[in-house]
Amino acid sequence: MSLYSKYLTEDEQLIIDAAEEFRSDVLEPRVMTDLEREICPMDVLEQMRELGFTNASVPEEAGGFGGSMTLQCALDATISQASLAMAFMGCSNPIATLLARVGTPEQIELFMPGLLSGQGGLGFTEPNAGSDSSGITTTAVKDGDEWVINGQKTFISYINVFDYFLVSALTNETEPGGASVFLVHKDTPGFKVGSMFHKIGLHGSNTGELFFEDMRVPAINMIGKENHGLRYVLAVLDSCRLANAACAIGIAQGALEKATMFAKQRVTFGKPICKHQGISWYFAEMEARLSAARSLVFDVARDCDEGKNITAGAAKAKWIAGQTAMFVTDRAIQICGGYGLTEDFGVARLFRDARVIPIVEGTDEVLKIVISRDVLK
Ligand SMILES: Cc1cc2nc3c(=O)[nH]c(=O)nc-3n(C[C@H](O)[C@H](O)[C@H](O)COP(=O)(O)OP(=O)(O)OC[C@H]3O[C@@H](n4cnc5c(N)ncnc54)[C@H](O)[C@@H]3O)c2cc1C
Repeated sequence: MSLYSKYLTEDEQLIIDAAEEFRSDVLEPRVMTDLEREICPMDVLEQMRELGFTNASVPEEAGGFGGSMTLQCALDATISQASLAMAFMGCSNPIATLLARVGTPEQIELFMPGLLSGQGGLGFTEPNAGSDSSGITTTAVKDGDEWVINGQKTFISYINVFDYFLVSALTNETEPGGASVFLVHKDTPGFKVGSMFHKIGLHGSNTGELFFEDMRVPAINMIGKENHGLRYVLAVLDSCRLANAACAIGIAQGALEKATMFAKQRVTFGKPICKHQGISWYFAEMEARLSAARSLVFDVARDCDEGKNITAGAAKAKWIAGQTAMFVTDRAIQICGGYGLTEDFGVARLFRDARVIPIVEGTDEVLKIVISRDVLK
């Protein structure tokens, strides 16, 4: 039984059991070493791929496990309790899922095997276009049966890990938002990796710049309809935002458990600190907020599995769960006192990972735009 059992089928629960075992046997022993470097431990990712976590929510007919969004959220929450980077990297394959939905039979035959084994990353953000994804300046110009792509992307995750990237580029510079998306293999001539960033959290993954210099891709690499690219970007972001929210509740759960263990053992003024009312109220606040965030995340996941639109729901879940993760990890540090500030203790790392959530794949401010637009429509 896990915290997420009530949301899962029996088969899905078996996967979560395997994920919990993997977390304690493989991930936790390595979080303070390999997973603290800003580079992916490929052997860990390979194990997650072999266990089927990566393609768990890719449709069965496309070669995945065919699991629900609910399963993906439970997986994300289970793994992010130890490592946000490995949850982001090893629990989903959003580009394979998108291709299964909108790709032509020829595209699915051509790209799906590579995406299932080597995965795909998101290549949307540019130095002057983050929240405003319509502000990109990367261009794709048709030349016979090929597109020639020129431009720059930044803050791109897993550059040295994934084989494919879904890249947005302007295909109609005269129309605002006239962009399309292309599936690009990292070995394509003209695909160049720039510098990497040193981040506060999300260690265990690399994040950096990509440059495209006269990069030629065949016409078949355009996914979906020409000039409709932003629609696909936003569709991918909806499911990624919900997955991020699930990761946030996993981070919060990890911090709550560490703080609980500490507060029952640490004695001050003759009793364990959890018996001091000032500290016990922190636990009440952490647990209440976390339960509410968890319920919201799995409520939206159920909507997604029922085929409902989750644009506003995913935004609400990510905002609430991200804020909850920041609150809970902050209180956990406070409860653990000086030990909470030391890196070896593990709570500080969860605090740093939590800080990433309100920025990636939609900042809190952008999420509020999405939510308020839905309320006021
Ligand atoms: C660790 C990490 C990994 C990432 N991985 C990827 C990846 O793999 N692929 C990818 O494409 N991108 C990736 N990103 C990029 C990420 O999605 C962007 O950082 C995010 O969308 C915000 O864009 P920005 O950083 O350009 O901020 P900006 O858009 O410049 O925003 C700066 C500030 O202004 C606020 N703001 C902007 N517009 C408004 C508005 N209209 N109203 C109110 N406030 C506003 C923002 O909320 C933010 O607080 C990653 C980022 C990080 C940090």
